[in-house]
Amino acid sequence: VAALIQEKSQMALTMIVRETGRVPSLATILVGVDPSAGAYRRSIVRTLGKMAIRHVPVDLPTTLTAEEFSATLRRLNEDPDITGVLVLMPLPAHLPAELVLDHLAPLKDVDGITPTNAGRLHLGMPAIKPSTPEGGIELLDHYGIDLTGRHVVVIGRSNVVGRPLATMLTLRDATVTLCHRQTRDLGRLTRQADIVAVAAGCPGLLTHGMVRQGAVVLDFGVNVVDGSLVGDVDIPKIGHLLAAYSPVPGGAGPVTAMVLARNVIVAAYAALGERIGPPLELPAAGFGPPADSGIGD
Ligand code: ADP
Repeated sequence: VAALIQEKSQMALTMIVRETGRVPSLATILVGVDPSAGAYRRSIVRTLGKMAIRHVPVDLPTTLTAEEFSATLRRLNEDPDITGVLVLMPLPAHLPAELVLDHLAPLKDVDGITPTNAGRLHLGMPAIKPSTPEGGIELLDHYGIDLTGRHVVVIGRSNVVGRPLATMLTLRDATVTLCHRQTRDLGRLTRQADIVAVAAGCPGLLTHGMVRQGAVVLDFGVNVVDGSLVGDVDIPKIGHLLAAYSPVPGGAGPVTAMVLARNVIVAAYAALGERIGPPLELPAAGFGPPADSGIGD
């Protein structure tokens, strides 16, 4: 699926390079050292390398103040050589994620987390969408899993995965139940689901007795247990019941990184047209900045 997204994005990339004379570039900000953020960055670097999109690492010390952090974001917003900016999470406790939401320019917000992009997504308007849930939808679509009228249980309500995924699914006519840490009797809900999407960061969360035969499961979990990458789904216990599932590693992860790369191209077009256009349709030819039918940032 990731390779197909890459193939379909290549023409748009070639055209934007020709149009602007610039290679789109993604700045990833890492504050301090974090193993999971570091692993995500390595996967992003690998994926951008395949696409010939430039990566600009921005490494900052944990001693950085909130003011200095905001100033870095503003500097990147104004830098014409930077197309998109991704802040790797988690941030140290003294740097709340709201700083990113408040200071990052919506046109460079390749993870779709700023109020402009999140609001536009929730209103059903063209938006730069968070790459993980968008990758999940790509997986379902690729394997022909119909969403209309289906009951999807999403576990996790973070701003980057669970909540935008629930929105995207409702926009695709699914019936969605959004669960979180305070949800009572999770199993009673997941047993009713046609599709279960798990983004909780909790190994083994979806397990024996929690899915019905023939369900489809998307696993967005990224956990390191005894040095190995595992998801949130207990596949040895429930895999035999499922019609389809996305494994960890190798499922949602590579697709997420490729959708992020595509979002850098989307941001390059947004910069050219100075507005967030319709979702990137990647035709064989003729793709340019969209007609003036949306709202700028
Ligand atoms: P991510 O960025 O992968 O979405 P977060 O840590 O930001 O991860 O969010 C985790 C989400 O998962 C939260 O919304 C939390 O309520 C939910 N969650 C975590 N553990 C459980 C659990 N045991 N049962 C149900 N929901 C959970």
